[in-house]
Parts: sequence; structure tokens; C-alpha cells
Amino acid sequence: MSREDYEVVMGLEVHAELSTKTKIFCSCPTKFGAAPNTQTCPICMGMPGTLPVLNEKVVEYAVKAGLATNCEISRNSKNDRKNYFYPDLPKAYQISQFDKPLCEHGYVEIDTKDGKKKIRLTRIHIEEDAGKLNHDEFAGGSLVDLNRAGVPLIEIVSEPDLRSSEEVEEYLRKLKSILEYIEVSDCKMQEGSFRADVNVSVRKKGDAKLGTRTEMKNMNSFRSITRAIEYEVDRQIDVIEEGGEVEQETLRWDDVSGKTFPMRDKEDAQDYRYFPDPDLVAIKLSEEYIENIRKELPELPESRKERYLKEYGLSEKDAKIITASKYLSDLFEGAIKVCNNPKAVNNWIISDISRILNETEMEPIEIPFDSKQLGKLIILIDKGTISSSIAKKVLVEMFEHPRDPEDIIDEKGWVQISDEGAIKEVVLKVLEANPKSVADYKGGKEKALGFLVGQAMKETRGKANPQMLNQMFLEELKN
Ligand code: ADP
Ligand code: MG
Ligand code: ZN
Repeated sequence: MSREDYEVVMGLEVHAELSTKTKIFCSCPTKFGAAPNTQTCPICMGMPGTLPVLNEKVVEYAVKAGLATNCEISRNSKNDRKNYFYPDLPKAYQISQFDKPLCEHGYVEIDTKDGKKKIRLTRIHIEEDAGKLNHDEFAGGSLVDLNRAGVPLIEIVSEPDLRSSEEVEEYLRKLKSILEYIEVSDCKMQEGSFRADVNVSVRKKGDAKLGTRTEMKNMNSFRSITRAIEYEVDRQIDVIEEGGEVEQETLRWDDVSGKTFPMRDKEDAQDYRYFPDPDLVAIKLSEEYIENIRKELPELPESRKERYLKEYGLSEKDAKIITASKYLSDLFEGAIKVCNNPKAVNNWIISDISRILNETEMEPIEIPFDSKQLGKLIILIDKGTISSSIAKKVLVEMFEHPRDPEDIIDEKGWVQISDEGAIKEVVLKVLEANPKSVADYKGGKEKALGFLVGQAMKETRGKANPQMLNQMFLEELKN
């Protein structure tokens, strides 16, 4: 049988770090990037005799995430201990939620090549993150950093509804944008605040029973997720085609070799000995509490997209790209407030800004200039102070050393030449230097005009006003 005879089935477990100021059970800060072990206390270091107290914001953020993904919110939930040993987990248990998660039975809608599709969410629960092991190349050992221990997470578990790596990517992007919009997580993939475990199985098309799955842990870039899925699907099909059986195991994806490697097998055999944490009280939520959070939910990506179609006349495709990221979409709206030119802002975001983001592998949240500065750049073009080719150079400069576009233009001497005398001078100089093109033009070759304009642009290093140049050439050529 060929690859075409198989169906791929996937379900995801996504971990998102919540952007609360303090940790889930103590008052240590959660800020990323501090010196190792400087954001710790006896509670998050797991000292015996300490008592955890649940951070209310964590519940609020998780409920928000649940409501934004169409979940039912549990009125009565609790925390459980998940017991296992690992050096980054000082208590030897993680406080998580077992049989009573905060949110259940939700869905996220994605666009597929066959139209809209609902990906069902099994649950969203809250839990604490573990610490981090730093493998020390010099000393040969591993060093434990507990700054991340106790940082609040939500784990979002999907049903096995995903059928291709494209669907997985679409689902992750949608989920990420929802979490960004409701401002519960910054979802910075490089910093690990949005990461996914991908469960993959294959079955022959038409089979009712799901195949045996493997689980690939903690991937944090779209590219590695797609590559890992493609590799793992091929590997599983090969195993079956060769008469073997896929084993249920946990895999580690290695980006360098482009392969998956076993981490531990028989995930099901691992017994976490879950039990309710006796140090924490049950989480009881009132109707009123949930409704208040529901009322405060902001506009979500889907409705923002619809609004852009109507309000600004954006194309479906552009509206989708811009609203997929809250930061891009805030940049869009902020710049329009300044320059009142939605079409230009749309074009700059879709073309030049997106291209630079791609080339530099930067996320929209990392764009170093603000929406006012983008708006000002567009005003400068609209007023004719700079040409759009100069504006492209200004934009690159805004990414590299963010400051007001006016300052960049002043410093670099990039102001457009719109002075009639100056333009005429250049035109005459170019005409004199290119008698052949002049003759060509007069002989009916209209293309020669383009060449002359190009020469004049070169002469002024792109600063001449192109409309004025054109007109001046036409006038002079008539004489
Ligand atoms: P755990 O990994 O903790 O054992 P579950 O058994 O609930 O948890 O499954 C976790 C994830 O695996 C879910 O997202 C689920 O949709 C997915 N999953 C379960 N069975 C399969 C399968 N046969 N193929 C692909 N994904 C699966
Ligand atoms: Mg799992
Ligand atoms: Zn602490």
C-alpha cells in the first residue's frame, strides 16, 4: 500500500505560560531571563513544611481561555498532585489537575482547504511549570535553575481531530492568537511560553479504530513541528508496511538530524499516582464570577477579521494575516489613527513588514517601533516628503535602530527632491549625457523614457520626486 492509503490522526497537548506577575503558588516574579535561581523562595523550591496558596489570577486567566475557546467552565474543580521524579521538580510532584479540570468540552475553529473545521478541546487545566536543567559543557554536569518552577501554565488538550501538519499549524496559530488577544499569555515560542506535544498515529483509510500513537514532546517552532510530523508519519507507515507494529512511546524530535528518538516507552504504563493536593482547597466558582469574565472578553481574531472586511475593505487574505496576530493588528489600527490611510498601512504590513519579519525570524510582538511611527512614515510618503523607495530604506532603519522616521530622514539626508529647479538641472544633465536614448525616444521608442528616468533617479540616489521627473522629461523632450 502507498502513503495515500493511510490517514494521519493527531491530537495536541499545548502548554502556555500565563502572563501573571507572580507564580502560581507563591509570590515570586515570573519574568523571563533573570539570573538562575534569583526568582525562587522556599515554596517554589519545594522545601518541606511550606504551604502553597493558589494565585487567583491564574484561575481568572484559565477561565478566560476556556470561555474564548467555547469550553464549559467547571463550578467545582480542584488541584491534584502528579507524582514523578526528575531533577527539575524539587517536590517530586507537580501540582496539576486530574479528574476535575477547570474547563472542558470546547472547540477552536480553523480554516482548512475544505472549509471551516472544528477542533474539539477535551480540556484546559492549570498546573505549575517545572524548573530547567542547564547542561554545563565545561563542568560536564547539569545545573538546576528553579526560576521557572511554579510559573503558571494552562495545558490545552485537543481531541484527536487533526489530520495533517497543515491543520496542526493552523490550529496552533489560531490558539496562539486567541491567547494573545485575551492577554493571558505572551505566547513567545522561542522563550518556551507556548509549546506543543504532538500525538501522532496513522491508520488505513476507512479503519474505525485509531492506530497506536507516539508522542513528540515540547516543540516550540512551527517549522520543527511540521518537520517532526512529516518524519514521524513516514516512519510509522514504514514500520507498518514492513509488517511491524508501531510502539506507543514518547519521542524527542532532534532538529539537527531531522529525526525522532525514543525518550521513554509505554507512556500508559507510567503511574503518576494522582491524588488531591491536601494543602489546597477546592476551586469553587460562582455563576456571577464566570459571567463577569465572559462580559469582559475582548474582541477575538475572527470578529476582528470580519470587521476589517467591512470597515476597511481589506481582502479576506490580508485581513486574516493581520488579525492572526494581536500585535500586527494593533499596529494596523494604531497606524491608521495617525495617518488615516488604511490601504497604505495594509500594504506596508502585508508586504515589507511581513517580509522583514520572515527574513529575521522575528515575531510581531518583537517589532521594535510603534504604530505611531509607522503612521508617521506613511504620512511622509503621502505628503511627498519621501518617495516610497526611500520609505523602504527608512523602514529597514526603523527595525534596526527604532526612532521617528523624520529623524532618520533628517540624519541621512533622504528628503525627496521636489524643487523644480533642482529637478530640471538633473533632467538636463541626463538628457545631455544620453543622446542615443533621446534619439530613440524621438524615433518612437517610448521605453527610452523609463531609462532616462532611471538614470535621473540614480543621479539623485533615489531622492528625486518620480512624478515630477517624468513630467519634466516629457516637457524637455518635446522641445
Ligand atoms: P496522556 O498523553 O496524558 O496519556 P491522553 O491519553 O488523554 O493523555 O491523550 C493525549 C493526547 O493524545 C490528546 O490530545 C489526544 O487527542 C491524543 N490522542 C489520543 N489517542 C490518539 C491516537 N490514537 N492518535 C493520535 N492522537 C491521539
Ligand atoms: Mg501526553
Ligand atoms: Zn517562590
